[in-house]
Amino acid sequence: MDLTAANHRIPLSDGNSIPIIGLGTYSEPKLTSKGSCKTSVKMAIDVGYQHIDGAYIYRNEDEVGEAIREKIAEGRVKREDIFYCGKLWATHFEPERVRPYLEKTLKTLQLDYVDLYIIEMPMALKPGDEFYPKDKYGNWLYHNSNLCTTWEVECHPYFTQRKLLEFCQQHDIVIVAYSPLGTARNPLWVNVSFPPLLNDELLNSLGEKYNKTAAQVALRFNIQRGIVVIPKSFNPKRIKENFQIFDFSLTEEEMKSIEALNKDVRLVDLLLWSDHPEYPFHDEY
Ligand code: NDP
Repeated sequence: MDLTAANHRIPLSDGNSIPIIGLGTYSEPKLTSKGSCKTSVKMAIDVGYQHIDGAYIYRNEDEVGEAIREKIAEGRVKREDIFYCGKLWATHFEPERVRPYLEKTLKTLQLDYVDLYIIEMPMALKPGDEFYPKDKYGNWLYHNSNLCTTWEVECHPYFTQRKLLEFCQQHDIVIVAYSPLGTARNPLWVNVSFPPLLNDELLNSLGEKYNKTAAQVALRFNIQRGIVVIPKSFNPKRIKENFQIFDFSLTEEEMKSIEALNKDVRLVDLLLWSDHPEYPFHDEY
């Protein structure tokens, strides 16, 4: 695969294509200043990102839309140059709720379409406008859903997903890896019992060899396996850094040694919903 900063779309089996790196935009709303998402998306488009990953529930989709629209108005990009992925939240899995919720996203973005719309997680919560429904005792209100599900996949050097990757490659399915840098380590929904991925000795030593950071090595590892990465950063230096992964490549041996870091450790383990009947992570995939 000859990927470059200017041309890094990979084909999908339906004839469409997806840019192999996207900007993640989830950031804990209470810890994020208003406007930082918009500034970051604009900056990412300037740097060359063509893919933005967002969701209505991230509560900054309006800023994502504003940023994309402003860049289009400036003539920096056309709508068709940008690949936007939006997400259906767990309280809207009932078939009649899907379209209105998608329309909410479109209205918030003020765009005519999204390029990809995925089910955010395969566990339904009580349908309604409450994002995180609980009963009066504080128990989660789960919901039964007949879910034929699409599922994004956490994937990084500590969770390399070899078996899933082989399965998907055999069936022409492209994987999008969320949390490719090991997450922002929010203990509410992340397993933080392992040391941070980016402190890893091997990733750092390979980084030194190529004059790159551990983050760039972790991202390069995934894109070299044909996996799309959506690292989140709202920091100008790191937005740029995460995109500078097309000017070096890892040797076969280095790829193998990174693969060997795999600990089968899922960081986004969502243990808060582990008793949900549809909790997906008891299964091998
Ligand atoms: P990431 O693995 O992308 O890590 C993000 C964290 O790494 C942030 O704290 C960021 O801080 C920091 N960071 C970014 N770049 C660097 C760098 N070069 N060096 C050091 N630190 C860096 O985690 P996410 O969990 O955010 O995953 C990425 C995206 O995937 C999300 O934002 C979201 O869009 C999507 N996602 C989707 C899910 C789903 O639908 N089920 C679940 C989880 C994520 P800073 O901003 O300060 O740079």
